[in-house]
Amino acid sequence: MTEPVPVSSRAANIEYAIRDVVVPAVQLEAEGHEIIKLNIGDPIAYPGLPTPPHMVEAYVEALRDGKNGYSPSYGLPQLREAIANDERQKGWDATPDDIYVCHGVTEALQLIFAAVLEEGSKVLAPGPHYPPYMAYPQMFGAKTVEYQLHQNDGWKPDLSDISSKMDDDVRLLVLINPNNPCGTVCGPEDVDELLAIARAYPNCIVVADEIYDGLDFTGRHVSVASRSSDVPVISLNGVSKVYYAPGWRIGYMALHDPSNRLSLVRDGLERLLRSRLCASTPAQLGYLAGLTGDRSWMEGYSKKVMKQRDHCLRRIAGIEGLEVEQPGGAFYMFIRLTDEQWAADDKAFVLRLLHEEHVLLVHGSGFSPELGKGHVRLVYLADIEVLDEAFDRMERFLQKHRSSDNMS
Ligand code: PLP
Repeated sequence: MTEPVPVSSRAANIEYAIRDVVVPAVQLEAEGHEIIKLNIGDPIAYPGLPTPPHMVEAYVEALRDGKNGYSPSYGLPQLREAIANDERQKGWDATPDDIYVCHGVTEALQLIFAAVLEEGSKVLAPGPHYPPYMAYPQMFGAKTVEYQLHQNDGWKPDLSDISSKMDDDVRLLVLINPNNPCGTVCGPEDVDELLAIARAYPNCIVVADEIYDGLDFTGRHVSVASRSSDVPVISLNGVSKVYYAPGWRIGYMALHDPSNRLSLVRDGLERLLRSRLCASTPAQLGYLAGLTGDRSWMEGYSKKVMKQRDHCLRRIAGIEGLEVEQPGGAFYMFIRLTDEQWAADDKAFVLRLLHEEHVLLVHGSGFSPELGKGHVRLVYLADIEVLDEAFDRMERFLQKHRSSDNMS
């Protein structure tokens, strides 16, 4: 037998827990089981949160009008302008030249890592975190170091842990706000303190992933760029979450460079952007309609999501074996497993719950082996009846295993 062609260690080491658990779920579905999937942060996968029709219409119209060619590498000028306007509303003096449109925040991240990281560089990111912050930097010879989120205080960043882990190799300090997977919202005080820490390191850029900023239930969310008068900040945002169109793959990075330190990085980013041609042209026009059209629909969507969050909090409070910190935003909750056997092996909990009760969650250790373990992430975008059914099954599962343990 011939040996398989070798794969690069870069690719072989990539993990994406959110989608990795889908593999056994698909297998069960193929066997005819119906699975309640609360694993993926895609609003379109759940009823009642469709992409707004005027955005869909603009996309379709673009296709019909033959807007199917390549667009400029940094984004359509009218979209860059609309995004800059939107960022200005958030409190800083963005111009269209500061905006670079990408195939989602995920592509923006890859470009930023490629433009900034060298062998030996570090990314300081929250633990637990959205997996690409750990998966991608190693492709560039860099490594991700996690700073702790306080698990008994709403998963707020531990600022002293950030301070203690900063050094000159930390080129990117990441704040995900609101956070995935914990739903934490940082207000102005936390953001100011984080900027004060970064200020002492002249080669460090703050990456502010604000893709859930329109889903802030606390009213305390602030744009990091709006708080910085000296530290360079790259803000990330897009159409996926707050505009309910993740499949369009449109996002952006916005460079806030108040002390003129990003000229070389900007040049590198522009080279990288040109080398990958452009983001989808008709999808950019769909996003433009979202940014320039009426946004009153957003309130209804947020209310629905918040009502579902509150319902989940009530249910969890009544289930022995589960505990949760109240999330302030996004649409995730990071639930603590308090039964010893599951606290010690959250992946076993997820896989056995899937096989025995057909409910799919994501294991917390997939968001950080150390800082996420003993937890599961639940997406609360499903309707209340479906969430209730999922919680009934979780409760039954926990009880069953507790009593079978006691008997053994
Ligand atoms: N950033 C965070 C924190 C996310 O949770 C996600 C998706 O779940 C993304 C970025 C992905 O963004 P995009 O769809 O624009 O690539």
